[in-house]
Amino acid sequence: MTERLYFFSDALDATATVTACTPLEDGTFSVRLDQTLFHPQGGGQPSDTGTVGGVRLLRAINDGDTVRHITDGGLSPGPVSLEVDAAARRLHTRLHSAGHALAAAAIPFGWKTCKSHHWPGEARLVLESPDAAPVPDAGALTTAVNALIAAGHQRCQSLTPEGRTVGFGLLPATLCGGTHVRDLAEIGPLHLTRLKQKQGHLTVFYDLTP
Ligand SMILES: [Zn+2]
Repeated sequence: MTERLYFFSDALDATATVTACTPLEDGTFSVRLDQTLFHPQGGGQPSDTGTVGGVRLLRAINDGDTVRHITDGGLSPGPVSLEVDAAARRLHTRLHSAGHALAAAAIPFGWKTCKSHHWPGEARLVLESPDAAPVPDAGALTTAVNALIAAGHQRCQSLTPEGRTVGFGLLPATLCGGTHVRDLAEIGPLHLTRLKQKQGHLTVFYDLTP
């Protein structure tokens, strides 16, 4: 099992211990650590990148309760330093947190989120309306989500038997494995780029100000 430090830490560097390192056929290596700062790809959020013991972390992968770190160099068992690529993490964290804000903003319009994807350039939520509510006006939804963001709701995290929950201020908390801003105001202005309706689902594409 890999302890996931990023659940409760925003640190971008730490030390860990390499417990195994396996060469892969494509010339990369699969590294296991006792604990990690790197968010693996999953839950609609891309993998962190960075360095492990001076070699490049290409991606981190969920593998049950462990995280596999794919690197471009081999490592011996023992202590190593971890360094997360700060700019990519920051962007992924803002885009992911914006998904929480947009999901909360859509609720009063009668729409709830059933899927989310927060990759740069393709961030979107898929919404459904149990009561067949009308499609929200894009301008009204944009105003609502930006009001939530500007209000600066603080992150609240807790560990439950089901996993870690994350909420912002009084907004609903949900089980979530992603990384989150401390305060929604850090997201900055959100733009809805496209709304697409198909078979009862509404896909809302969004982007942030760089
Ligand atoms: Zn989340």
